[in-house]
Amino acid sequence: MAMKLHEYQAKQVFADAGIPTPASQLASDVDGAVAAAEEIGYPVAIKAQVQVGGRGKAGGIKLVDDDEEAREAADEILGMDLKGYHVDRVLVEGAVDFTDELYVGITMDRGEGKPVAMVSTKGGVNIEEVAEEDPDAIAREHIDPAFGMHPYQARKAVYDAGVDKAIARDVSSVLTTLYDLWENRDGSDAEINPLMVTADDEVIAADAVMNIDEDALFRQPELAEMEDEAAGGDELEQKADEYGFDYVRLEGNVGIIGNGAGLVMTTLDLVDYYDGEPANFLDVGGGAKAERIANALDMVFSDDNVDSVVFNIFGGITRGDEVAKGINEALEQFDEIPKPVVVRLAGTNWEEGMEILNEDLVTVEQTLEDAVERTVAYAEEVNE
Ligand code: GDP
Ligand code: MN
Repeated sequence: MAMKLHEYQAKQVFADAGIPTPASQLASDVDGAVAAAEEIGYPVAIKAQVQVGGRGKAGGIKLVDDDEEAREAADEILGMDLKGYHVDRVLVEGAVDFTDELYVGITMDRGEGKPVAMVSTKGGVNIEEVAEEDPDAIAREHIDPAFGMHPYQARKAVYDAGVDKAIARDVSSVLTTLYDLWENRDGSDAEINPLMVTADDEVIAADAVMNIDEDALFRQPELAEMEDEAAGGDELEQKADEYGFDYVRLEGNVGIIGNGAGLVMTTLDLVDYYDGEPANFLDVGGGAKAERIANALDMVFSDDNVDSVVFNIFGGITRGDEVAKGINEALEQFDEIPKPVVVRLAGTNWEEGMEILNEDLVTVEQTLEDAVERTVAYAEEVNE
């Protein structure tokens, strides 16, 4: 199996290796996309980041000339369903003023048991279709992996494809770089379609595909991390996985920490009741010792949306004094508490817990309702 990088990730890998790519920025909301477009300068292309080809034809790529068009396009593309994939991010990228579109790619020729480099002047369209309808339009050069790709092989493929002389050297160099990446990064496919040619004979990778052999991911930690990033989407949700918390990120600004799904849900409902907006669902589970409490605080503190935090712990297996110590220890590490924390303890040893809590660091409330109301009020103060 192969792991597919997103276009923006593949472009980063290509750019790091010296292949020219347009200026670009990733955005996950409309305002971010417009800001990116302004920074890059119009015209820009707004491109859905989903791992399927033919996004252009399917309406996932739009060229825009000003803020208004950018806003409209980003609004349309973000959230769209593209060939079964939900679009939650777009790449905003400087549009290329091009005269030609080439194809360059490296893949494994299973029949020959060797990698093959391919070049075509019929880029910008589905290369499988070109291969079927006009196979001669694709020049191929097999490579002996023991020796790598010789520069003359790259030049030959480029020549055979009929690439214009003025850019032959640059295209050859892109092809050898692509092969080196394929080889060194355990690629299964590496592809640029289109490699655009500009009026002043520059070449630039307008699209990028890089698929990695999954069995080799252990020796490509940097790329494996990209997979996590793409799959997990949210950094915080990844962190929650590491800590072993049940966590869901929500839209609001009131951070919630509790033990037991039912109690956390109740807290969420109460936040809503007091006209606050929950920032997350976070269940630290049973036996919440000091370290888990510190980890939970780290989660909500590192969420930029969070303005205040409510701790709602019911002591059963988790003793109130244990939790209180954990909260104190976690908060003592800060010179300044980043966001106000309100605590309500109940159940086993709750009275001891209340006494242990350092009220210089947290606000203590006796009831769940008071705790939530106070937390919502803190969040409102921040936004006044
Ligand atoms: P794909 O459809 O998913 O392969 O996405 P591409 O990035 O390859 O874009 C599809 C097509 O959009 C390209 O082949 C171009 O013909 C067209 N296009 C026109 N202008 C631009 C531009 O400035 N940038 C990019 N990336 N594509 C453009
Ligand atoms: Mn493409």
